[in-house]
Amino acid sequence: MTESTMESVESFRLRARAWLAENMPRQAGDEPPPLAEDDEPEWQRARELQQMLYAGGFAGICFPQEYGGLGLTLAHQQAFTEESDGYEMPLLLNTPTFSICAATLLDTGSEEQKRDRIGGAIRGEEILCQFLSEPSGGSDLAGLITRADRDGDNWILNGAKTWSTSAYAADWGLCLARTNWDVSKHRGLTMFLVPTKAPGVTMNRIRMVNGVREFCEEFFDDVVLPASAVVGEVDDGWTVASRQLFHERTAVGGGSPYVSGRGHPRTLPKVTPLDVVRASGRAGDPRVRELVGEYLALHRVHGQTVDRVTRAIGSGALSPAAASMLRLLHAEAGQLSDDVAFKVAGAGVATGAGAEQGMGGRAGVGYLMRQSGSLGGGSTEMSRNLISERLLGMPREAAPDRDVPFKQVKRGR
Ligand SMILES: Cc1cc2nc3c(=O)[nH]c(=O)nc-3n(C[C@H](O)[C@H](O)[C@H](O)COP(=O)(O)OP(=O)(O)OC[C@H]3O[C@@H](n4cnc5c(N)ncnc54)[C@H](O)[C@@H]3O)c2cc1C
Repeated sequence: MTESTMESVESFRLRARAWLAENMPRQAGDEPPPLAEDDEPEWQRARELQQMLYAGGFAGICFPQEYGGLGLTLAHQQAFTEESDGYEMPLLLNTPTFSICAATLLDTGSEEQKRDRIGGAIRGEEILCQFLSEPSGGSDLAGLITRADRDGDNWILNGAKTWSTSAYAADWGLCLARTNWDVSKHRGLTMFLVPTKAPGVTMNRIRMVNGVREFCEEFFDDVVLPASAVVGEVDDGWTVASRQLFHERTAVGGGSPYVSGRGHPRTLPKVTPLDVVRASGRAGDPRVRELVGEYLALHRVHGQTVDRVTRAIGSGALSPAAASMLRLLHAEAGQLSDDVAFKVAGAGVATGAGAEQGMGGRAGVGYLMRQSGSLGGGSTEMSRNLISERLLGMPREAAPDRDVPFKQVKRGR
């Protein structure tokens, strides 16, 4: 499809508006449902909604047609997202399935992986997750110790991963493992596509302070993987991981073209300062107005920066490293929002009380969770490092283990 044969954004918008009204269920009310211990129905619903989008010809808007998408532009996706406000959408599938994992496979996967995994996700048949962080630490990703050893044509995977978002609901995980211990840490890694239900995979869910069990930890014991599980080249997993981290920062920063629909998945209700002001009736308080003004100003700057930086990366005016700016600002804006909501809620906040305690309780839970925004998608300290080294050209952080064979690197005590 060329620019001249592509449907115009306006025509696409009108078609989407009519189709959504005819086919997609309306969202029920503003209030998020209580956090369910068993959220399997939410995931099943997300798959069904995705299947409805696919059947209607509105799934995978920015993915190429040969892998099941529509091959359209970010502007088409944005128009669809605007039109989808107020309808039920499969928001749970946006991140990490589409915006991180499918996006990474599109850049680095084999034809078969693109056709089967991206196509499977677009058709609403498969969910993807990421196996990157390990119990020994996530910031130094290249220092990971999960290993994959050759066994004839197969690979044998052993090790542990943690903080894997929604892995319990996923079918496949992108797993980075060490395949060569004789070279320096970035050069001996390989990315694998691991079936989450394969023999030898043990998965536990982790309960967070807000009660949600979104994260998992996994243990891999002699998991057998075929040669076709390798994404990219053997021992060149860092190239794949670098693309994955780029897509992760872009997604977390709010600039991914592969996100469809807006708002938070229903399992993670977020309270904004404006919600709390409306509920508390404190809109006339000068101190509250000052706090909310600060929040609104940063909120506006955040939105405009996302637009500007996304366009600049797309046109090549800024390097992909600029996604770190989006990631950093997203955390700053999110944390200011949590802080202001907490302050405005005032004495009404009973931390840990939860959604059932009304707006104050929800603001309290939001405050308890504020730190996750500066860790998920790589920590804000790591983003600052990237901005200083890659964008501002400042000296690189000292790393004595960068050029030595990994087997000689001292670990633990
Ligand atoms: C919401 C959320 C979703 C996540 N989803 C996933 C997922 O799906 N898959 C997955 O694999 N992981 C996931 N993670 C894990 C995430 O990638 C890690 O938490 C993150 O990379 C930091 O790693 P760590 O928690 O091990 O902290 P550490 O790496 O142990 O770091 C601890 C602290 O030290 C700081 N620090 C470390 N090194 C440096 C340095 N060189 N310079 C300056 N400061 C430094 C860090 O910034 C941090 O504040 C998720 C985390 C969150 C919160």
